[in-house]
Amino acid sequence: MSRDTCLFCKIAAGDIPATKVHEDDDVVAFRDLHPQAPVHVLVIPKRHVASVTGLGADDAALLGKLMLAAGAIAEREGIAGSGYRVVTNTGAHGGQTVFHLHLHLLGGRPMAWPPG
Ligand code: 5GP
Ligand code: ZN
Repeated sequence: MSRDTCLFCKIAAGDIPATKVHEDDDVVAFRDLHPQAPVHVLVIPKRHVASVTGLGADDAALLGKLMLAAGAIAEREGIAGSGYRVVTNTGAHGGQTVFHLHLHLLGGRPMAWPPG
């Protein structure tokens, strides 16, 4: 999987349009096409990483940047006070459908627990 074939690599590169809410050297965030909550943003690394599975020690800083971006976006979206969920689906049982690592930032309504 590469920038040529991966949907989120193409979004990160600007080859497929998305409503971006954040971009820096390492991270892009954009609104989910099928939002599951009033705020539903996907936070991804620009570099292709398939999922949490296979992450290495070298990726620790990148993961920190993803989570910091999620927190900053939550502030900007006005959901930091009410609360929100950050989740990353991994593999078949995790419900992952796009195999480029992404954090779902979900908020603007109460979240059920446990998830289905
Ligand atoms: P996953 O199921 O892998 O955890 O999450 C993939 C997410 O990507 C889903 O919530 C889905 O709605 C979203 N998605 C799939 N295709 C597109 C697209 O082309 N653009 C945007 N903005 N989101 C997408
Ligand atoms: Zn990718």
